[in-house]
Amino acid sequence: MNDQCIFCAIAERSAPAEVVQADDHTIAFLDISPATRGHTLVIPRRHSDDVFDISADDIERVARMAKQIAGRMPAALSCDGVNLLNSSGSAAWQTVHHFHMHVIPRYDNDPLKLPWTPGALATEDLPQIAEVLR
Ligand code: 5GP
Ligand code: ZN
Repeated sequence: MNDQCIFCAIAERSAPAEVVQADDHTIAFLDISPATRGHTLVIPRRHSDDVFDISADDIERVARMAKQIAGRMPAALSCDGVNLLNSSGSAAWQTVHHFHMHVIPRYDNDPLKLPWTPGALATEDLPQIAEVLR
């Protein structure tokens, strides 16, 4: 429990949220400022800041719950697709520093846009980039 963390407060139910699913390790609730109708966040109950910090067990549990909720969305919300998204670090748009997976229902013709431009970067150095990442 991080005293300053709004998602820790939601996890221990001392702050309100529209909870969608919960178990001993993981809780999912509606985003208070949804990108689309049904936008849900899945978090580990145990505080971790981001993908660098979270345990393998916790990220596995988050992924499992995200998959279960995503799987219900087409029938429940009549959505046409789903984005799973995690932002880790302010440079990656993270604003709440308690790990969370966004589960974002997508609708044909919704207003969301791909945030990068395919083909905008040169690709000659792909072999070197792969090398440093191996
Ligand atoms: P991030 O920008 O870190 O990837 O995502 C944080 C998300 O948390 C945002 O989509 C934001 O709307 C949501 N959020 C921030 N504060 C609260 C809150 O108090 N309750 C709920 N349900 N969502 C929140
Ligand atoms: Zn927290």
